[in-house]
Amino acid sequence: MTALGIDFPVFEAGWVWLVGAGPGDPGLLTLHAVNAMQQADVVVYDALVDDRILNLLRPDTKRIYAGKRGGRPSARQTDISLELVDLARQGLRVLRLKGGDPFVFGRGGEEGLTLVDHGVPFRVVPGITAGIAGAAYAGIPATHRDCNSAVTFVTGHGASGDVPDNINWSALAQGSQVLVMYMAMKHLDRIATELISHGRPGDESVAVISRATTPHQQLLITTLAKAARDVENANMEPPAICIVGKVVDLRDRLNWLSPQDNVSAVRHVAFDQILELITTPGETLETQPAPSEK
Ligand code: SAH
Repeated sequence: MTALGIDFPVFEAGWVWLVGAGPGDPGLLTLHAVNAMQQADVVVYDALVDDRILNLLRPDTKRIYAGKRGGRPSARQTDISLELVDLARQGLRVLRLKGGDPFVFGRGGEEGLTLVDHGVPFRVVPGITAGIAGAAYAGIPATHRDCNSAVTFVTGHGASGDVPDNINWSALAQGSQVLVMYMAMKHLDRIATELISHGRPGDESVAVISRATTPHQQLLITTLAKAARDVENANMEPPAICIVGKVVDLRDRLNWLSPQDNVSAVRHVAFDQILELITTPGETLETQPAPSEK
């Protein structure tokens, strides 16, 4: 693939590419990810990869679903890693497509280590992680000079399915002004209680963003003390990220994506036209009206 004179790597047979698909919105894919999708012989994909993204695969690409939701035991992870080895040894171009970024709570490291152990060459394509994109789509900056000089990504879910037992709660509560929590919905009550008992104010703002960057994005603004109850009352479903910290309050002014901002006024252009435009500079875009359901 060549666009505006930028060359992209050739997907060699027998290689595995661990690729981040971003959090949902296909527009957040990287060009490397699209390049990988155009060349792959087989894709092994996760539950969190959006269907609209899978539509960008070549029609003849074999699709293998490797969805794991809710922290299944690690034996299953070993199976997936070994399947990648097996497919690569068949001489296929193996695309391992993961939600968000493969190396952020994505077990990409585990799969990479298995590939190393078996001598299978691989490449990593980072993706936009849900914690960053979800925050941005909610109008919340991950850092803001008046609010925080650190941001911490934390998982609410360990390999056992429970809250990870190696979290140092007082360090977490006191060491970072902003916490971006993945997989925290199930244990939100316990997590909030721990944070409060280790010094975070109960009235500190919390944003919960479910299915971030998709047309089904749902947002709840609450406080640490009320978060678990409010999430339950609002019937919010995973996948969701929870953001704790003063940056959440900036949403009042930075909420660029809210219905009040009249998202329906946004016009759309087909992806093919964008590609055409990239490869033939100088053309102008023909835009379409926004879909009426938005
Ligand atoms: N590698 C992924 C994270 C996988 S762990 C990444 O970098 O984003 C799965 C968790 O990611 C979910 O439980 C949820 O906390 C978060 N997540 C993934 N996609 C999301 C989305 N579209 N909206 C909100 N949270 C999401």
